[in-house]
Amino acid sequence: MTRPSIVWFRQDLRLADQAAVAAASADGPWIGVYVLDDEGPGPWAIGGAQRWWLHHSLTALGEALRARGGRLVLRRGTSPDILRKLARDIDARTIHATRHYEPWWKAAETVLSGGDLELRLYDGNRLAPPEGVLTGARGRYRIFTPYWRALKEQMPPGRPAPAPHAIRAPHGAIESDALANWGLLPVEPDWAAGFGIWTPGEAGAHEALDEFLPVLDHYDEDRDRPSVDGTSRLSPHLHFGEISPATLWLRAAKRLHRQAEPWLRQLGWRDFCANIVDILPGYGDGNGRDAWDRMAWRRGAAADRDFRAWTRGRTGYPIVDAGMRELWATGFMHNRVRMIAASFLIKHLLIDWRRGERWFWDTLVDADYGNNAVNWQWVAGTGVDSNPFGRIMAPLVQSPKFDAGGYIRRWVPELADIEGEAIHDPHGAGLSPAGYPPPIVGHREARERALAASAEI
Ligand code: FAD
Repeated sequence: MTRPSIVWFRQDLRLADQAAVAAASADGPWIGVYVLDDEGPGPWAIGGAQRWWLHHSLTALGEALRARGGRLVLRRGTSPDILRKLARDIDARTIHATRHYEPWWKAAETVLSGGDLELRLYDGNRLAPPEGVLTGARGRYRIFTPYWRALKEQMPPGRPAPAPHAIRAPHGAIESDALANWGLLPVEPDWAAGFGIWTPGEAGAHEALDEFLPVLDHYDEDRDRPSVDGTSRLSPHLHFGEISPATLWLRAAKRLHRQAEPWLRQLGWRDFCANIVDILPGYGDGNGRDAWDRMAWRRGAAADRDFRAWTRGRTGYPIVDAGMRELWATGFMHNRVRMIAASFLIKHLLIDWRRGERWFWDTLVDADYGNNAVNWQWVAGTGVDSNPFGRIMAPLVQSPKFDAGGYIRRWVPELADIEGEAIHDPHGAGLSPAGYPPPIVGHREARERALAASAEI
């Protein structure tokens, strides 16, 4: 009789274009396992908003497996320990899994690779495995543009494989935790009331793609305008691996190639971020360039008060506040606004980028170790590829430039009735909207303070 095998699901909660699933199905009977591992990642344990997403995505995956005759076993603990025990219990010798680049996943893979179990790893969560995108001298890229050029030479990706029609699962009882007992959903207070805009899971990911493709042709004009629904909002689906990037590439590239390029380039950024944390695993915790270790970030009670104002969307800068409130309400923030809000924290408030990165980690449904760290360091100017620190975004200029009025009215109700250009800077326009604070710091003074601090580096 064929031994059963295990498919270890992590950030790859899909059945289509999933090489681990295809290989296990070809081998014989298998069970899917998801381990809620809060120990392996240490401080990078999955954040609050993503726990909400995970609950719903696992529900969808479990149903999709059951509909095909398969099973999803849920366990909580340290991934290698749980997998070893489960393999013993069901007499499995092989674990199939998609490859990931977060340092804690690589550590767990190393632990699992020893001993009598065979861990088979497959690619497919990136357009191309980052370790295969190399310079002419066979080195790794640390700068995006040449990485993207080299990556594009390997495109298009292979044709995505369909989900298996039927799955054979081993007979007999296998214990599983009840998802409801994991407490992934908020109870009191229910901060996820506004998360109903999302449909986690593989079907939801395909729906999001279907909705986005008709506006893809306008992506380049609209992507920076937060008042317009001009981007795909696929990032949480991509983080959880509910759809493969190859599927996205091939569906998008079917349209006129020139129009698809700016969006495909963003998928390239996603690959690049995985590349960076693969070669620099500590990137989420440490500056990409050591000189920044000497930066005198503000600390203490005043900085804490400012940080709190930023998290609550009460800085007095409407574009920043709208972004921070969108984040709290929906687990998402428009990319242009992420850049403005991050820059404001780092440069206007002179607060260490890592505090902002942690806040995003806990509040974003798309929180991703690589994407988050690389983007925060890009904005901060501390990264291996980044915007120079001295380029300080002016929120009051960015806001009208990208036509953010509608977005601000939507997310900052105190300003909902302000018409015209005053929406971008109500206090500057001589208004005092009830309940809305004046700016916590002036732009010019903040800019000078930031430049003086960075001059020490
Ligand atoms: P689209 O514009 O439709 O792009 C398609 C996909 O490309 C996205 O879903 C995403 O997977 C990828 N992508 C787009 N922009 C980037 C980028 N700059 N870097 C890497 N990948 C990108 N993205 C995350 O997925 N997780 C994070 O934790 C995260 N943290 C960020 C923190 C800061 C400070 C900033 C400035 C950006 C961050 N981003 C992060 C990148 C970006 O903001 C989001 O990926 C994007 O807003 C998601 O919206 P979308 O799916 O509509 O993107």
